[in-house]
Amino acid sequence: MTVPPLKNNCFAMPAGVEWTPVDDALALIKKGLHPVVAQEVVVLELAAGRVLSTLVKAERSNPPMANSAVDGYGFCYDSLPAQDIINLPLQDGASAAGKPFAGRVKAGYALRILTGAVIPEGVDTVILEEDVAINDTLVTFRSGLRSGANLRCAAEDVAIGQEIFNTGHILRPQDIALLAATGVHKVSVYKRLKVAVISTGTELIAVGHPARADQIFDANKPMLLNMLTAWGYQAIDGGHFKDDPDLIRDGLNAAALNADAIFVSGGASAGDEDYVSKLLKEEGVLNTWRVAVKPGRPIAMALWNGTPTFGFPGNPVAAFVCALIFGLPALKVLAGSADQKVITYQVPAAFDKSKKAGRREYLRARLNDNGQAEVFKSEGSGRISGMAWSDGLVELPDAASTITNGDMVTYIPYTSFGL
Ligand code: AMP
Ligand code: MG
Repeated sequence: MTVPPLKNNCFAMPAGVEWTPVDDALALIKKGLHPVVAQEVVVLELAAGRVLSTLVKAERSNPPMANSAVDGYGFCYDSLPAQDIINLPLQDGASAAGKPFAGRVKAGYALRILTGAVIPEGVDTVILEEDVAINDTLVTFRSGLRSGANLRCAAEDVAIGQEIFNTGHILRPQDIALLAATGVHKVSVYKRLKVAVISTGTELIAVGHPARADQIFDANKPMLLNMLTAWGYQAIDGGHFKDDPDLIRDGLNAAALNADAIFVSGGASAGDEDYVSKLLKEEGVLNTWRVAVKPGRPIAMALWNGTPTFGFPGNPVAAFVCALIFGLPALKVLAGSADQKVITYQVPAAFDKSKKAGRREYLRARLNDNGQAEVFKSEGSGRISGMAWSDGLVELPDAASTITNGDMVTYIPYTSFGL
């Protein structure tokens, strides 16, 4: 009996099977999904991390009135004598932050004025106190100051009525500062997206319980729940189910009732015990299943009782990468947040690798002291330690590519994914 030789394309995609490119899967997500959450009004104190559901306009100008940018002396520029050394008599009083000067500063006089103080009538220029000599009645300084110096004009930063944030913006602490400064105390936001996480696998047991030697601890559910929390969503523990279609069906039904979206890990392939993909195909609407990505394929994107459901591979690394690459953008759309490009960096590779065409690859990576991307020693999808070792992913294109040390590669830090 002769053994047939391996074909060159023995690792190619199976004939007749459609492998959806990553970009097509992402385009489907963006096109096919829309915000599914209601809106609510929250006060600023509770607004960080929330998604704006309307555009926001300034309710007040910043600054509301012209004020001084420095501690110094204010006067009317046009009243200065045409001399190299200028002496101005001091007018009684001062303007301080929160204690404006009530009167008008007379032409040819200077008034003590402090940082943040409202510019009184009759003043259009402030000189820094370090640039003057002072005695009881006179300030003395050299000419050459610019008219309008050291002043913050009313509304120079933001004018009342100006649009400051767009719908879909996720509020950060620095955004809260702008809202507060412009008098916006309440904002309309989308309610937090509720996402249920289910893990499947007869071999799994929750950590903290005594495990038989043949059991493994469920790493995906705690990971995915914490990813959701980090992204500002309401994470719901949807339970762990053995590889039993009836149990998994019940779990999916309950999750669809309680949540806006479902993450399921395990059982997404076409194996005998892979009931997640079977159920989604036979009883749900399975839109996309085989995506050309490593680690990852297959990943199921489906509807279960109308609820968007993502079936991730059970391998923790694959579940993690798929949650970042497909789960997060999908949830962003569902949660109402604007489509924002993930920030990537071009850095030199500290590794050699060649890959075939046909699927995008993500390697666990981190930057070394020279700013080059090094990759984890194993690409094994069960190597959970590599996730903890890494600070990001190197993304290799769908096309065939050969990378040698020093070539530029795309590096995506986990912080770009909000982790
Ligand atoms: P599956 O996708 O169900 O075929 O699982 C692929 C591999 O990932 C198997 O070795 C599983 O034991 C493992 N696995 C599945 N789910 C989990 C989980 N929640 N935590 C850790 N490992 C898992
Ligand atoms: Mg399994």
